[in-house]
Amino acid sequence: MFDRHCSACDRTQLIFPSQISSVTNTDHGILVSYTCWCGAEQTWLTGARGHADEAALVAA
Ligand SMILES: [Zn+2]
Repeated sequence: MFDRHCSACDRTQLIFPSQISSVTNTDHGILVSYTCWCGAEQTWLTGARGHADEAALVAA
Protein backbone atom coordinates (compact mmCIF):
# COMPACT_ATOMS: atom_id res chain seq x y z
CA MET A 1 0.00 0.00 0.00
CA PHE A 2 1.09 3.55 -0.53
CA ASP A 3 -0.22 7.07 -0.17
CA ARG A 4 -0.66 8.95 -3.42
CA HIS A 5 -2.11 12.28 -4.37
CA CYS A 6 -4.63 12.04 -7.19
CA SER A 7 -4.59 14.75 -9.84
CA ALA A 8 -8.24 14.09 -10.68
CA CYS A 9 -9.97 14.24 -7.31
CA ASP A 10 -7.20 16.28 -5.65
CA ARG A 11 -7.07 14.03 -2.62
CA THR A 12 -4.30 11.97 -1.06
CA GLN A 13 -5.52 8.46 -0.55
CA LEU A 14 -4.20 5.05 0.34
CA ILE A 15 -3.76 2.89 -2.75
CA PHE A 16 -3.99 -0.87 -2.36
CA PRO A 17 -2.15 -3.46 -4.47
CA SER A 18 -5.47 -4.52 -6.01
CA GLN A 19 -5.75 -1.05 -7.55
CA ILE A 20 -2.43 -1.36 -9.37
CA SER A 21 -2.90 -2.18 -13.04
CA SER A 22 0.74 -2.39 -14.08
CA VAL A 23 4.30 -2.00 -12.83
CA THR A 24 6.93 -1.22 -15.45
CA ASN A 25 10.65 -0.86 -15.02
CA THR A 26 11.99 2.10 -16.96
CA ASP A 27 15.34 3.84 -17.21
CA HIS A 28 13.99 6.53 -14.90
CA GLY A 29 12.58 4.24 -12.24
CA ILE A 30 9.52 2.12 -11.73
CA LEU A 31 6.36 3.34 -13.43
CA VAL A 32 3.28 2.25 -11.53
CA SER A 33 -0.16 2.59 -13.07
CA TYR A 34 -3.15 2.39 -10.78
CA THR A 35 -6.77 3.38 -10.49
CA CYS A 36 -7.68 5.90 -7.82
CA TRP A 37 -10.72 5.44 -5.61
CA CYS A 38 -12.43 8.09 -7.76
CA GLY A 39 -11.93 5.93 -10.84
CA ALA A 40 -9.19 8.03 -12.45
CA GLU A 41 -6.21 6.31 -14.01
CA GLN A 42 -3.04 7.59 -12.38
CA THR A 43 0.64 6.90 -12.86
CA TRP A 44 3.46 7.15 -10.39
CA LEU A 45 7.15 7.12 -11.19
CA THR A 46 8.93 5.86 -8.12
CA GLY A 47 12.52 6.48 -7.29
CA ALA A 48 15.86 4.81 -7.29
CA ARG A 49 16.66 1.23 -6.46
CA GLY A 50 16.59 0.31 -2.82
CA HIS A 51 14.02 2.96 -2.04
CA ALA A 52 11.44 2.03 0.57
CA ASP A 53 8.64 2.45 -1.96
CA GLU A 54 10.11 -0.24 -4.13
CA ALA A 55 10.26 -2.63 -1.19
CA ALA A 56 6.58 -1.95 -0.56
CA LEU A 57 5.77 -2.81 -4.16
CA VAL A 58 7.72 -6.02 -4.02
CA ALA A 59 5.79 -6.99 -0.91
CA ALA A 60 2.57 -6.21 -2.72
ZN1 LIG B 1 -8.79 10.34 -7.48
